[in-house]
Amino acid sequence: MIDLRSDTVTRPGPAMLEAMMQANTGDDVFREDPAINELEAKCAALFGMEAALFCSSGTQTNQIAIKCHTQPGDEVICDADAHVYQYEAGGIAFNSGASVRLLPGDRGRINAAQVEQAINPDDIHKPPSRLVCIENTSNRGGGSCYDFEELKKIRSICEKNGLSFHLDGARLFNALITKNETPAQYGALFDSISICFSKSLGCPVGSVLLGTQSFIEKARRVRKILGGGMRQAGFLAAAATYALEHNVARLAEDHLHAKQIAAALGNCPFVQTVLPVETNIIIFETKNNTAKKLVEQLKKEEILCHAVAPDRVRFVLHLDITETMVAAVIRKIQSLQF
Ligand SMILES: *Cc1c(COP(=O)(O)O)cnc(C)c1O
Repeated sequence: MIDLRSDTVTRPGPAMLEAMMQANTGDDVFREDPAINELEAKCAALFGMEAALFCSSGTQTNQIAIKCHTQPGDEVICDADAHVYQYEAGGIAFNSGASVRLLPGDRGRINAAQVEQAINPDDIHKPPSRLVCIENTSNRGGGSCYDFEELKKIRSICEKNGLSFHLDGARLFNALITKNETPAQYGALFDSISICFSKSLGCPVGSVLLGTQSFIEKARRVRKILGGGMRQAGFLAAAATYALEHNVARLAEDHLHAKQIAAALGNCPFVQTVLPVETNIIIFETKNNTAKKLVEQLKKEEILCHAVAPDRVRFVLHLDITETMVAAVIRKIQSLQF
């Protein structure tokens, strides 16, 4: 099977497993896990931010960040397709008691003018706008990347209005590679950043939340409340440290593979349009709402993928997809009878 459902399906290879086996661990609730302390320090330094916190998932890092930035009754501004709204099980309401202002963005990306208009006036009828959340790359936007200049504009609107600015960077490294940007650029712009190691970086588990020292202190308490205090989790942190050192630059390969497959899809009679491919995600539209049927047909050809809408199919490239598999996918879709 060639599994293009998600970049979460990767399994740790021998070198990553060896790094995990060698981890020096301790009780992280006591802050005594050297491998976790090392990863947190490494991430904070990489982004030029004060502190970092290792967590079990990207949902957890996002939800902790939202909880730390808001009070019940506050409002969070984000794109209507944002993961924090679409895929975190109503966590903004459940964990933070906050309301959400959803903006119709361009493939998952909101702009500064939209944000400015969405900020509520100081009026007792309105929830106080408190936080802007953006996602880079955008998952439902098909791996689209923000223009950094636009992010700077959003930042200055946040500053002018006393709002915090959070980045859901589950696939931030994909954006950095494509746009030739640096983690430090992002560290300087956001109040908090969430990055994931179990997406395209190939780890079994793990996300990191970044922010100021005092923000991360608060976040550590919220993580405990959510049951997220882990003990000898350094075995997992060691995988993340390994991934930072070995699996970032290679993301360019996934992006190349995505472009090659997208080009082939563009010539297939069953494809209506292929959304622009910027990173490791391909979303294409099928004719007459046939996405589900196409996914079934592709499964018979030993290609696994997802229908993300009645007329939309998603392919995701990742660490475990080789050049040979990419060639096989192209051959199979070109000869597909559908
Ligand atoms: C996957 C993902 C997350 C976090 O998901 P978990 O499964 O909880 O790790 C957050 N944001 C985006 C954009 C994602 O794609």
